Amino acid sequence: MKVIDHINNSKKTLFSFELLPPLKGHNISGIYRTIDPLLTFNPSFINITYHQQEVVYKKHKSGLLEKRTVRKRPGTVAISAAIKYKYPSVDVVPHLICGGFSKEDTEYALIDFHFLGINNILALRGDPPKGMRVFAPEKEGHPYATGLVEQIVAMNKGKYIDEEMENTTPTDFCVGVAGYPEKHIESPNITSEMKFLKQKIDAGAEYIITQMFFDNENYFTFVKNCREAGITVPIIPGLKPITTLHDINILPQVFNIDIPEDLVKAIAGCRNNEEAFRVGIEWSIQQSKELIRYGVPVLHYFTIGISENIRQIASAVF
Ligand code: FAD
Repeated sequence: MKVIDHINNSKKTLFSFELLPPLKGHNISGIYRTIDPLLTFNPSFINITYHQQEVVYKKHKSGLLEKRTVRKRPGTVAISAAIKYKYPSVDVVPHLICGGFSKEDTEYALIDFHFLGINNILALRGDPPKGMRVFAPEKEGHPYATGLVEQIVAMNKGKYIDEEMENTTPTDFCVGVAGYPEKHIESPNITSEMKFLKQKIDAGAEYIITQMFFDNENYFTFVKNCREAGITVPIIPGLKPITTLHDINILPQVFNIDIPEDLVKAIAGCRNNEEAFRVGIEWSIQQSKELIRYGVPVLHYFTIGISENIRQIASAVF
């Protein structure tokens, strides 16, 4: 089922979560170990992230550096298919990014998803590669997620890159996009943020999943700004529980988000990661309960491969 149908068919807040493919060389069984304890909460869908290749430098004995391109977490397409067929009651939402993809590569990826019977995509631009400040699209690739949404919507109408192709089969993807309650790091201001978010929706995206946030007021303000900008689609809050003492310093750097002072104080009072893990669960439970009262369509958790905290949160709120 499509994400938008899950939302439209439900009167209560749904549960979903995001998984990362395993690091190259590791087994898919880790993915199943994350999913299995969460099945009891009836997840409507599971998102699988996409990781573009990175440039790494290998130092040789001679001291010379060799430049290599590696994909540390490959397998998004295969993992999506494996989950779809192992857990028939759950839908999968693979992420598809612009980075590293020409429009033709994108078309082939979409054909694979279509043939696999997967009809949900979260369409993203991707971040600039590590060590670079500016995102550079692939030659013949999309510079922004809007272009990717447009390409998927065109395929839903049977339009492929080669416009001379006749009698093509239309695909049937439901497309979601990302939103940033605390503003995307590259956006000069909220007005610009809303303008380009609306472009993605006008291009055909049917819902938004937000970046993580730790203060629900940021989500409420974001929804208000979206509605004022004419964005009417469902806005799914993305939540990530704190798991270690260092999260309060690392997450703001990586995701351009603020940690509320009360949470900073609570983590600062922890003696070790185990205590921080418990504080993270409790904070996320309170956030989740308030968001349910507000009437959010889905609570979407970023697992980063850990399910025990999400299991405890889900059992307290669903
Ligand atoms: P866009 O919507 O293209 O926006 C990027 C920036 O460009 C924004 O500042 C926007 O305001 C601006 N902009 C948009 N259009 C224009 C225009 N026409 N002219 C000028 N400026 C414009 N990354 C991954 O690599 N893999 C993943 O699996 C992944 N999953 C994610 C899941 C969620 C829920 C979220 C919130 C993020 C995820 N990301 C992922 C991170 C995401 O790729 C980055 O945040 C990226 O920097 C922006 O992606 P976007 O799709 O929001 O980009």
